[in-house]
Amino acid sequence: MSKQEISTEKEKDIQRLVYLIYLYTKKSNFRKEGWLKDQALKALIYFGIVKGLFRMFDYAPLFVTWSDQTRFVNVSMEAEAILEKLVKDEILDRLRLSTEHYRYIFAYRVRDLSYIEKIPESIKEEVKRVYQCPKDCILYEVKFNKYIEPILVCPRCNTKIEVRALKTEKIKFVSKIVLLSSLIKEHVEV
Ligand SMILES: [Zn+2]
Repeated sequence: MSKQEISTEKEKDIQRLVYLIYLYTKKSNFRKEGWLKDQALKALIYFGIVKGLFRMFDYAPLFVTWSDQTRFVNVSMEAEAILEKLVKDEILDRLRLSTEHYRYIFAYRVRDLSYIEKIPESIKEEVKRVYQCPKDCILYEVKFNKYIEPILVCPRCNTKIEVRALKTEKIKFVSKIVLLSSLIKEHVEV
């Protein structure tokens, strides 16, 4: 791919990401929540990468806070960096919430709705195709099972899809643990 093609594809991935957040935070009969929590978003982004929706995002196991535990989760650093920039550019709003265990989590919503209007219909359709139950045409909800693995559930027909975002393989192959403590990244040799 040429430099131009790469930047066009990256721009499309950004639009897909913003539209994904928009779908999960806009008010409708089915969802009253106005914010998408970071943990659900990470699971949705990983699912989107696996499904081939995001062309330029990659993922790697990162040691992160997950449901008040610390786990290796497949996280996209490209997407994390883009989220950071979208907040700075005031396209997204980010809220910092404290959990009952005094940890902090982020939640997102779209701030600049004119950005959504500029996203081509073809991109919107691509995003919906991945995150909607094809039978009912409604968004899957993000739930977590007892192993804190994310699952997508159709609220109407109860179809369940395992996301498999948690890294379950032995971590002896990992030579470098990346600790994500809010925005500070430290590299620790194991
Ligand atoms: Zn369904």
